[in-house]
Amino acid sequence: MSALGRGMAETTEAQAFRDSLRSFVQREIAPHVDAWDEAGEFPRALYRRASELGLLQLGYPEALGGTPCGLRWRLIVSEELARSGSGGLLASLFSHNIGLPPIVAQGSPQLQQRVVPPVLAGEKIAALAITEPSGGSDVARVKTHAVLEGDHWVIRGEKTFITSGLRADWLTVAVRTGGPGAAGLSLMAVPGDAVGLHRTPLKKMGWWCSDTATLHFDAVRVPAANLIGEPGSGFRQIMGNFNGERLLLAAGSLAFAEVCYEDALDWARQRETFGVRLVEHQVIRHKLMDMRMHLRATRALLSEVVQLHDDTPPGVPLAPEVVADICLLKNQATQTLQFCADQAVQILGGMGFMRGTRCERIYREVKVMTIGGGTEEIMKELAARQLG
Ligand SMILES: Cc1cc2nc3c(=O)[nH]c(=O)nc-3n(C[C@H](O)[C@H](O)[C@H](O)COP(=O)(O)OP(=O)(O)OC[C@H]3O[C@@H](n4cnc5c(N)ncnc54)[C@H](O)[C@@H]3O)c2cc1C
Repeated sequence: MSALGRGMAETTEAQAFRDSLRSFVQREIAPHVDAWDEAGEFPRALYRRASELGLLQLGYPEALGGTPCGLRWRLIVSEELARSGSGGLLASLFSHNIGLPPIVAQGSPQLQQRVVPPVLAGEKIAALAITEPSGGSDVARVKTHAVLEGDHWVIRGEKTFITSGLRADWLTVAVRTGGPGAAGLSLMAVPGDAVGLHRTPLKKMGWWCSDTATLHFDAVRVPAANLIGEPGSGFRQIMGNFNGERLLLAAGSLAFAEVCYEDALDWARQRETFGVRLVEHQVIRHKLMDMRMHLRATRALLSEVVQLHDDTPPGVPLAPEVVADICLLKNQATQTLQFCADQAVQILGGMGFMRGTRCERIYREVKVMTIGGGTEEIMKELAARQLG
């Protein structure tokens, strides 16, 4: 039973990048994740460190302090950071990857310059706020509303389950600026220190070191220029933004599933029961092979969908079939994660239930992957609709 391959040949440059990330995770993250999880947060200084290593900047324009590149490079970051076994760390450290893209794509040049470079430098934190207490799946029914009063928008409403919600310096917020339905939605950049913005922390099943919050907008005033794109363009922007988020969630899920396989295999090779190593029991070997089968299939699909994504020129909308494939890939990857986390904890036995093992944390963090960024049910629905 050999180690898992990457599914496709990587360039020397990509391999070197992967190796440098692996040692960063081993030296600067893995030894601390348990303590960060128990503390409910990781040090803010980690954003600067991630920027020093060039991780926050990947995929953003040079003019805004970024490093333009294909999605593959970001996936390498997701995969290698997943080796820490902490989904919460990935979610918060990279929340800018869901908060910034609308600003980069549609924000005014002044707004872009104000928001993006400090976030990519690790000095500020960005987040995305769409979900509301009344629901997250049906984005077209967002209730938080913004009214133009003179040269300011005045926002009233509530958002919930927002990653980096407490610490974010900039929030990209979905608001209703027009009538009911998708056509009435807009996106707006709201500074974290805006008067009237109140934030409350939430406790969760997993992702403990990630900050998750409810946000109350009590007549929050933001300059008219903080509108991102045209009024009414919010729904289209949100849907486009979801594609990148779902691909990254799929890559992260697969990487966590691979960690489960590796840890289960290691354990099965060392642990002895009934006078032989676990791996010598056929039942255990078969569990490992079932895990590997799911992992290999998911990796192949991920490689294909990433290729389709990267073949689409920047600025050109993805073809409906590609959007459908991204939705199905997210489900494939999260189901693989569910299966592998379950099998791994079983193979580790009581040790799999103990804090401090990667499998224990990953098992607790499985569910959020099938819910965040669009639930499993909504992914199927959206894929079916794309295919007509
Ligand atoms: C830890 C965490 C972090 C998050 N971070 C963010 C963030 O940073 N920003 C943000 O905006 N949101 C965030 N979310 C919210 C997340 O995107 C939503 O939870 C998700 O979209 C589902 O919305 P909901 O929870 O309101 O469930 P609902 O929309 O109320 O759905 C409840 C259930 O019903 C199912 N369902 C709904 N409609 C249908 C249908 N038509 N057919 C079949 N089944 C249906 C859903 O699949 C789900 O199983 C986060 C969530 C979590 C848990």
